[in-house]
Amino acid sequence: MKVTIPIKQCAEVAALLWQKGWAERNGGNVVVRLDEDDELRGLPPLAAGLPCGVSVPHLAGRFLFSKGAGCRMRDLANSPMDNGSIIRISPDGKSYDIVACRPIRPTSELATHLLLHDRLVSEGLPGRVTLHTHPTELVGLSHQAALCSTERLTTLLHRMIPEARLFCPRGIAVVPYAEPGSNLLAQATLEAALTHDVVLWAGHGAVAVGVDAMESFDSIDVMNKAAQIYLAFCIASSVRL
Ligand code: 13P
Ligand code: ZN
Repeated sequence: MKVTIPIKQCAEVAALLWQKGWAERNGGNVVVRLDEDDELRGLPPLAAGLPCGVSVPHLAGRFLFSKGAGCRMRDLANSPMDNGSIIRISPDGKSYDIVACRPIRPTSELATHLLLHDRLVSEGLPGRVTLHTHPTELVGLSHQAALCSTERLTTLLHRMIPEARLFCPRGIAVVPYAEPGSNLLAQATLEAALTHDVVLWAGHGAVAVGVDAMESFDSIDVMNKAAQIYLAFCIASSVRL
C-alpha cells in the first residue's frame, strides 16, 4: 500500500530525532491519526482483537499509524511500513486490529498516545500527531529536583530565548517519574499535554501534540534549545574571568 503524507512526515521527523541524539536504540514513538479512505476500509486484519489497555470510545473505527514497539526511529525514517503499522480501533474502543502492512505491535506507550487522540477527537481539537522522544538536555534538567515543577521550569525556559515564549506560550508541564508504558503515566500525561506545549516525563523524555509530526517535533526542539542555553549559561557562570 502507498505511504501517505502523514506517515512520510513521521519518517522525516524520525530521521531528525536520530540526528539529534534523542532516539537511542528504540527510544521514542510517534502515532498519527489517518484519514479514512477506501483502501484503509478494505484492509483485512492481520492480527485481531488486541487490547488497547485503555478505553478510547471516540476513536471507534479510526485508523492510526504507530511506530512499532521495539522498532528504531532511524529504521522508521528509511522504511516506515517495516517499522510501524496501521491499526483500526474496534467499535467499542477497547481493542484494535493491525491492518497494514505487517503484524507489527504498536509502541509500548500506546496508552498515552490513544488517550490523547481520543480526547483530541472528542473535543474537536486540531492535533493529529502525538510524539514521544528522549531530548537529552530536558531530561537532564528533570533530574534536578528544584526544577521538577511546571511553573519553575516554564519560567526558566521562557527566560532563555524569545522563541520559547513565542512558540511554546503554554509552557512545559512536568510529570513525575512513572513506569514507562504504564496507564499511570498515560493518565498523568493527558491533561498536561492538552494544556501545555510540551510534557516532560521526569527522568525519561518528552511528549508533544501537533497538527503534523513536524509541529510536535518543533515544540520539543524549541524547549530543548532553551534547556541547552540554560546549561551553557550555568557553564559560563562558573568560568572565572
Ligand atoms: P517503544 O519501542 O515501545 O515505542 O518504546 C520506546 C520508548 O521510548 C518507551 O518510552
Ligand atoms: Zn521513552
